[in-house]
Amino acid sequence: MTKTYDVAVLKGDGIGPEVTEAAVRVLDAVQKSSKNFKLNYLYGEAGYHCIAEHGTNLPSETVALLKRSVACLKGPMTTPEEPGAPVSVAVTLRRMFNLYANVRPCRSFPNVESLKPNLDFVVVRENTEGLYSGVEFQLAPGVGVALRIITHDASLRVAEFAFKLAENRKKRLTYIHKGNILRITDGIFKDAVKEAAQKHPDVTIEEMHVDAATMQLIKRPESFDVIVTTNLFGDILSDEAAQVTGSLGLAAGANIGDAYGMFEPVHGSAPKYTGMNRVNPIATIMAAAMMLDYLGEKAAAAKIEKAVLEVLREGKVRTADLGGTSTTTQMCEAITSKISEH
Ligand code: NAD
Repeated sequence: MTKTYDVAVLKGDGIGPEVTEAAVRVLDAVQKSSKNFKLNYLYGEAGYHCIAEHGTNLPSETVALLKRSVACLKGPMTTPEEPGAPVSVAVTLRRMFNLYANVRPCRSFPNVESLKPNLDFVVVRENTEGLYSGVEFQLAPGVGVALRIITHDASLRVAEFAFKLAENRKKRLTYIHKGNILRITDGIFKDAVKEAAQKHPDVTIEEMHVDAATMQLIKRPESFDVIVTTNLFGDILSDEAAQVTGSLGLAAGANIGDAYGMFEPVHGSAPKYTGMNRVNPIATIMAAAMMLDYLGEKAAAAKIEKAVLEVLREGKVRTADLGGTSTTTQMCEAITSKISEH
């Protein structure tokens, strides 16, 4: 029987439309070759380009469309930085759908330069609070305050998620914090991780301060399996990890809650490359594969991953970030034709 999934697609800003359309073409190819499921794409407008017309980067029609879908493939979006401007769409969606775990796989790819060979670890970042709480105000001219809200419940929830992931991997978990300085907030986070650890005695845990972790990610990235940390630390560490393992153009992320999943590349809208058909679509294609995995279409997800690895292994099609001259379209076509071959 053919299963149908309503999935929202938000193309975003800058290079967003190019990479998202490439990912949709790959999803089309895998549906054609798998034949046992169908994706019904619900296209919505969101991002910086909506602000002039709608006064918001997330119009209410898009919110309604997202609520009708089971998952979302989201392209990168430009985030306005002026005080009072709409907050990032990703941050709003994470809060709106309670997408508490941000999962960023970090692995080395064939023919892609990485600091060490055969890297394979995952950064799990708390996604709903911390310094992304959005509570920031000016006390007096030149004096500002941002609240770093950390709760036991949100920390425990993300720790549980990370332990379950570690159980299905190499059974090692590193929790990263700055508890020597942020004693109350990171004290709460540390206690929650230790509480979750009691239910997962087969997972070995290691504790690390965030400054040491940035160094260890360079020095011994192979020693990590699952990393769990708070929101901002996770954001920074996962970008670092993307570079340690290769290119930002290859790194995908999932935002997972109990009832919804949103999937996106780790990179942003890279406005200077807009419309140049130059950037690497693989991060968004891998995000689409993560979405299929989340929907339970594991064979289709594996097929996309295999096609990506084969194209990279062959090394004939390489975008500029990988040291080549191939276009976004050529990379997409190479991947879709591998899928069709299988
Ligand atoms: P960026 O990730 O957009 O770009 C940084 C650099 O990374 C680019 O100049 C480019 O050299 C490289 N790069 C990014 N994507 C690539 C790809 N697919 N292929 C090859 N190279 C790639 O970061 P930025 O310049 O700091 O941010 C631009 C905008 O994106 C900002 O408005 C920022 O807020 C936003 N942003 C959005 C998201 C999101 O929507 N989830 C994430 C990060 C940044």
